[in-house]
Amino acid sequence: MLLLVGASFGQTPSADRINRHINWLASDKMQGRGTGSPENAKAAAYIVRQFRKVGLKPLGTDGFYQPFTAKVRRVVVTDSLRKANNVIGFLNNDAPYTIVIGAHYDHLGMGKQGSSLAEKPEGQIHNGADDNASGVAGLLELARYYATNDVKEPYNLLFMAFGAEELGLQGSRYFLNQPTLPLTNLNFMICMDMIGRYNPERGVGIGGYGTSETWPQVFKGVESPIKFFTDRAGNGGSDNAAFYARQIPVLFFHTGGHPDYHKPTDDPDKIDAQAEEQILKLCIRLLDNAMQQPKMTFTAVK
Ligand SMILES: [Zn+2]
Repeated sequence: MLLLVGASFGQTPSADRINRHINWLASDKMQGRGTGSPENAKAAAYIVRQFRKVGLKPLGTDGFYQPFTAKVRRVVVTDSLRKANNVIGFLNNDAPYTIVIGAHYDHLGMGKQGSSLAEKPEGQIHNGADDNASGVAGLLELARYYATNDVKEPYNLLFMAFGAEELGLQGSRYFLNQPTLPLTNLNFMICMDMIGRYNPERGVGIGGYGTSETWPQVFKGVESPIKFFTDRAGNGGSDNAAFYARQIPVLFFHTGGHPDYHKPTDDPDKIDAQAEEQILKLCIRLLDNAMQQPKMTFTAVK
């Protein structure tokens, strides 16, 4: 009952704000948010401002920031060591266990990091609107919703924007090696990476369904105006893989590949923010159900 009442007062995800976040993060001015660039640092500062605005508590090692050194390995460059940051905000509900909600905010910059699929990537702005300004917009909208809904949920929520994902999940792995709260307190992790290009024929994929025997219970009776399907595997695609490797149950939201993937044409005007709003509302329904369940037990997916 409490949850239902709270849901009507919380600021639910809105397509308008989703668009605003994505337009800001993936504009040409942001130069593709490559790890180590001033624009990557600007993106991190933007997330800090949003976390602060909704009242999250800092849970990095330097305020909201958890600085680390990332390494470019795919290509040989003189500046292979890069300054990077995770951005970590905490919603304290005085609960014994914590749910992680995460999305990476870095992208391929000007195409010199080695994973662009463009023919001549160097010097081209890789905007990364879907990958992963869309996931960051989702992270910020979920943070806003849960931090402003006046409900004390039965779990704490840890909101994390990961750095250096495109260099090989380096931010999430760094956090798991240097956690800012005990990992044994974590219930499960929700990852959003590329949730802005909803295709009504495919639907939104939700991976990790097999990572706990509790997930079927959580999905029971959940409906949405958008199409979605589950996939048992939890060990691929994005930062969720790092959590899976630590035997933490995961869910991974993803609207699928497209011809602009890892190319300079992954632009904000191709985002379907209305559909993303519905994806986030679906995510809230699942989270609310999951929070009615006891702490989950991990299951390895064969
Ligand atoms: Zn990504």
